[in-house]
Amino acid sequence: MNICMVGTGYVGLVTGACLADFGMNVVCVDKDAEKIATLQRGDIPIYEPGLEEVVSRNERAGRLRFTTDLKAGIEEALAIFIAVGTPPKADGSPDLTFVRQVAEAIAEHMNGYKVVVTKSTVPTGTGRMIEQIIKDKNGRHEFSVVSNPEFLREGSAVSDFLRPDRVVIGASDPRAIEVLKEIYSPLYLLDTPFVITDVASAELIKYASNGFLAVKISFINEIARLCERMGADVHAVAKGMGLDKRIGSKFLHPGPGFGGSCFPKDTSAVADIARQNGHPFRIIEATIQANEETKRRMIEKIAALAGSLSGKTAAVLGLSFKPETDDIRESPALAVVEDLKKAGVTVRAHDPAAMTNARAVHPDIHYAKDAYDCASGADFVVLATEWNAFRALDLARLGAALRSKTMIDLRNVYEPAEMRRAGWKYVGVGRG
Ligand code: NAD
Repeated sequence: MNICMVGTGYVGLVTGACLADFGMNVVCVDKDAEKIATLQRGDIPIYEPGLEEVVSRNERAGRLRFTTDLKAGIEEALAIFIAVGTPPKADGSPDLTFVRQVAEAIAEHMNGYKVVVTKSTVPTGTGRMIEQIIKDKNGRHEFSVVSNPEFLREGSAVSDFLRPDRVVIGASDPRAIEVLKEIYSPLYLLDTPFVITDVASAELIKYASNGFLAVKISFINEIARLCERMGADVHAVAKGMGLDKRIGSKFLHPGPGFGGSCFPKDTSAVADIARQNGHPFRIIEATIQANEETKRRMIEKIAALAGSLSGKTAAVLGLSFKPETDDIRESPALAVVEDLKKAGVTVRAHDPAAMTNARAVHPDIHYAKDAYDCASGADFVVLATEWNAFRALDLARLGAALRSKTMIDLRNVYEPAEMRRAGWKYVGVGRG
C-alpha cells in the first residue's frame, strides 16, 4: 500500500519509517526543504535512538522516500497521514493552520479515493473540519477521515511505535477501518489491543491520556513539596503509592515540572476545549498552574542551597526536556537556565544531544564538552535532565572541578545521605 506521511518531524519521521518497516511504501513529505535534503543525504535531522537504522534499512529496501512534493505524494497514496505540528496559540488553543493547509492540499490534488488519517494531536471536531474542507474544495472524489492519535514518547519513539500499548482508530467508514487494520496488521501478531471508535472519541482519547498523565506528574510534584515541608521522603511515598495497582508506579517521579512538546500544549488545549464547551476543567487548570509554580520554584531551591546567586557560576547538566532526545521545547531545564541568568548567574551547560538546539535559544551561555568540563570553575551543579551519562558521574572528579562541592539534583539521581557523607552540599526534590 502507498502511504504519504505529511510532516516529517519527531512523529512523522518515526511513523513513516516504522510503517515502511511494516512493509508499506511510504513517502515522507515536508515543507522544510532543508530537512528533506538532510534526509535525502542519509542523515537524520533529530536525535532519536534506533531511528537511523530503521530509516536506512527501509530506504535501502526502496520502501521509504523523502520529498517536498506534496502533490505527487497525495496522488500516489491511498492513505495520507497528517503529522504536522499543532503548536499552542497565545490563548492556549491549538493552532490548526498546518492541518488546514494539508487538508486543502489533499482536496486540491486528490485523484481518487483517499483515506485521510490525522496523526497530529488535534481537538475534537478537527476530523469534521477536515472533512468539510475537502468536501467544499473537491466534490468529485470519495474519501474517509480517520483519527489515529500517536502515543510514542521521544527518546523511545521507535520501540514505542513498534510495541504500543494500544492502537486507536477513530472512523465511521468501514472501508477506512479496513485500510488502517491492514496498515497496522503486524501489530495484530503481537496481540496489541485495538480501540476502534468514532472520530471524536479517538481525538479525545489522546488529550484525555496526556491530561491524565500531566495530572499524575503534578500530583507527585505537589507531594514532593509537602515532603520537603514535613521531613518525608517522596521516594518512599511514591513507592508506597505505586504498589497499589489502581495507581501504578509509572509517572510518580518528582522533578522540575513537566515539559516537552506535548504535555504543556495538550493540557492547555484540554483546558481551552473544556472552556469552549462551557465546562471549565478545574483539575487540568490546577495542573497547569501547579506545573508553572514547580518550574519557577527550582530557582528558590538553588538559592536556598547555593546562597546568594548574583555573580556566581552554575554548571547545568542536561538541557533537553527529558533524556535520550535533543528536543528542548518547553524544557524545564531551560526554564532553570533562564531563571539563573535573570538572577545574575553565569551559566555553563552540557547536554549529550541538545546543545545545538539550545545554542539557538541561549547563544550566550558556555557549552561544555562533558560534565567535568562543565563543572570546571563553577560554584555549583544543577542536575536538570537525567541522562545516563549523569547517573554514574565520578563525583570525586566532579567535586574537584567545582569551586564548592554543591549539587542541586532536580531529578533525584543521587542519594542524599551518600552525597552528604561524601562531603557534598546536596539537595534533591522532596527528599525530606
Ligand atoms: P515537529 O514540529 O517535530 O514536526 C512537524 C513537521 O511538520 C515539521 O517538520 C514541519 O516542517 C512539517 N509541516 C508543517 N506544515 C507542513 C505542511 N503544510 N506540509 C508539509 N510539512 C509540514 O512536530 P512533532 O513533534 O512531530 O508533532 C507533530 C504532531 O504530533 C503534533 O500534533 C504533536 O502534538 C503530535 N505528537 C507529538 C509527539 C511527540 O512526542 N513529539 C507524540 C505524540 C503526538
